[in-house]
This record gives sequence, C-alpha cells and structure tokens, in this order.
Amino acid sequence: MSLSFLTDDENAIRDAARSLIGREIAPHSTEYDQHGIFPRGNMEVLGEHGYLGMIVAPELGGSGASYLAQTLVVECLAEVDPATAVIFEVHNSLHIEALWRFGSSDQKDRWLPNLCRGRTIGAFALSESEAGSNAAALATRAMVVDGGYRLTGRKMFITGGGQADQYLVFATVNPDAGSKGITAFVVQKDAIGISFGPAMNKMGIRAATTAEVILDDVFVPESDRLGQEGQGYLMALYLLDGGRIGIAAQGLGIMAQALSRSLQYARERRQFGRTIGEFEGVQWRLANMATDLHAARLMTYEAARHREDGPAGRPLFAMAKLFSSEHAVRHAEDAIQIFGGYGYMTEFGVERLLRDAKVTEIYEGTSEIMRLVIASQLLKDYDLDNI
Ligand SMILES: Cc1cc2nc3c(=O)[nH]c(=O)nc-3n(C[C@H](O)[C@H](O)[C@H](O)COP(=O)(O)OP(=O)(O)OC[C@H]3O[C@@H](n4cnc5c(N)ncnc54)[C@H](O)[C@@H]3O)c2cc1C
Repeated sequence: MSLSFLTDDENAIRDAARSLIGREIAPHSTEYDQHGIFPRGNMEVLGEHGYLGMIVAPELGGSGASYLAQTLVVECLAEVDPATAVIFEVHNSLHIEALWRFGSSDQKDRWLPNLCRGRTIGAFALSESEAGSNAAALATRAMVVDGGYRLTGRKMFITGGGQADQYLVFATVNPDAGSKGITAFVVQKDAIGISFGPAMNKMGIRAATTAEVILDDVFVPESDRLGQEGQGYLMALYLLDGGRIGIAAQGLGIMAQALSRSLQYARERRQFGRTIGEFEGVQWRLANMATDLHAARLMTYEAARHREDGPAGRPLFAMAKLFSSEHAVRHAEDAIQIFGGYGYMTEFGVERLLRDAKVTEIYEGTSEIMRLVIASQLLKDYDLDNI
C-alpha cells in the first residue's frame, strides 16, 4: 500500500525494501529471536543491496539517499524483525553517521566503504553502569600518550558488543572538565586490551546482542580520534537526535505489525456466532490503533525530513520517539488482547511484539528524558500567542 504523504520515490524505496526484507530477513526472524542469534547475514544482505550508509555519498560506498529513506527502511525491518532494525539503526545513525559527519577524509576513506557494504559492523559505546540517562557523567578515561591515547573503562549495554567490528567509544581526556572533556574514538574489535562481557539475557530484541565492552589500557592512535578533544559529548547528542528518529521508526514497524495481525485475526476469529471484528469493543481498539499509527508516521517522517536542522530540531525528534515508542508498547498489548489466550502463547508471535516494543521506551533516551527535552524547550521558547 502506498502512503499518500510520501512521494512516489519514497514509496518506491519502501516497496523495494519491504520486498527484500520479506524475502531475505523475515524467514529467519523467529529462529534468531528464539536462539539469540546475531543476524550478521542480514546486515550483509542489506549492505549488498545498498541499504547501509544510505545517506553517505556513493563514492564512499553509500547511496546518497535522504534521511527519510533510511528511516523508512528501519520501519520496514521492524515490521518483521525489530532486532535487525536496531542493529541497522545503530550501525547507520550512530556509527556511520558519526564518521560521515565528523570524520576526516582519511577516516571516511578507511572505514566507510566496508561499513556501507556490511563487510564490517559498527557500534556505539556511550553508556556506563553509572552513566545512563546522565551520559555526561561517564568515567571511561583517555590518557594522552605518545602518538595517541590509552583508554580504560567499561561500557554497559552495548548493542552488538563482541559482534561489531569497530566501536565508537566516548571517553574523557579531562574528568575535571565534565562534558567538555568527553572525546570520541574509533576502537577496533581486535585492539589489544579490549574484551567483551557475555551476551546479556533479555526480554526482547533477543537477536541484537547486548554486552559490556571492557577497555583495559587500549592504545588508540591519534588518527583514530573523531573530531577534536572535548567535542565528543555534543557529537553524541547530535547522533542521538538521529538515533531517536530511528527508534521512532522501530516503533512504527511494531505498530504496523500489531495492526495488521489484529485486523486479520478480527476478520477470522469467531465467537458468539460472529467474527470478533463485529464487536464494538474490538472495533474501537482497531480504530485507535490505526489512528495512532497514522499520527506516529506523520510525526516520525516529519522529524526525518528535519534531520538537517540539527539540535534546533531536537524537540521534534524527541516527540516522535516519545509518541511512537509509547504507542508501540500500547498497541502490542492491544494485539495480545485481541488475540485473547492465543496472543499470550509464543507460538503465535504476538507476545513478541510486546517484548520487542518495550525497549523503545528505554534506549537512546528514556521516555522521561524525552519529556525533559521537550519541556525544557517549551519553557525556554514557546510563544504563548501561538497556542
Ligand atoms: C537493549 C539495550 C541496548 C542498548 N544499547 C546501547 C548502545 O548500543 N550504546 C549505548 O551507549 N547504550 C545502550 N543502551 C543503554 C541505554 O541508552 C540506557 O539504558 C538508557 O539511556 C537509560 O540509562 P539507564 O539504563 O542507566 O537508566 P537510568 O538513567 O538509571 O534511569 C533509570 C530510570 O530513571 C529515570 N530517570 C533518570 N534520570 C531522570 C530524570 N532526570 N528525570 C526523570 N527521570 C529520570 C529514567 O527515565 C529511568 O526510568 C542500551 C540499553 C538497552 C536496554
């Protein structure tokens, strides 16, 4: 189905991505979820077909596409496999985009072609056990040494930890400077002194390995520092803005799946001599789901179209993530309710929607942090005459 608020080109990108994902990624999704298998092959397929690093210029291996195009692919992935959607999102919005926006030409040449082809996978290592929502409190230390830095610290909850080939690590060169000491580095998986905790057992997106990344006196050459010393925190915030659009899109995919599974079931399941879709109680739930999905799409696509606004668009990005993630969780519950007892059984795959949706309210900024971002902007700037 074409969406009237997308251009013909955008609808074509969506159709092509959906068809590839349906053919190549959907068939493995349940097995990878059940066994927690990291879907490296999915990333290779996406790379071979030009879906990685979509915003990067073609001469560096990308497709020169819009941010919205990339956002549409996240949504299509999340319809069938939210775990691959988040790996894709971290790889593109948090890792590739960092190099594309802030890397030197040497760094772009060295890393982007392989990342865009899916030959290497990138991760984003900001969070620590004592620095989650308050990432500026991170303690990972970067000591300046001859020719570069030595990094020591532990990064918590890293998507792709131990599976990704390179890590964008945030560490401080000067703990007394607070957020102004934070600096970004690209660290290779085979660097001496880097190790990984075991894959953490978790509720949903089970194929998207989450692990601790442990840095013990890891040497990083100066040529692998991204940007200047002290620019890392602002860089992280900039990247998370885009990441939040991606998580909003992940919510859209889950909502779309919840709605389509629910509609199909409501047409088929019979009780009291009628299909359950004939009962008003079910109809209202379906109508609300369709309405919320439409609203969430408008918000998310608008946010994607405004990605180039940078920090000025931050409240818009936060609103899209907040609305989409909270509705994804609600719709996953609605779908389970519509399926009744069958919705609660693993075999039907509807309970998975809820397991996979919940994390969208947590990572890349919790719902509470999204509300803080929106409210602080409102209190600063909102023009009362425009209410
Ligand atoms: C599956 C998964 C994958 C992840 N992947 C990555 C990754 O790849 N890279 C990475 O760097 N991080 C990653 N994270 C970390 C994630 O970004 C953090 O979990 C998130 O930012 C919240 O931090 P926290 O878990 O420490 O919670 P806390 O910050 O301790 O928050 C706990 C609770 O307190 C609330 N709270 C905190 N501060 C405030 C406040 N000021 N006002 C109101 N409420 C507040 C929070 O909203 C939350 O409800 C991942 C997390 C998960 C679960």
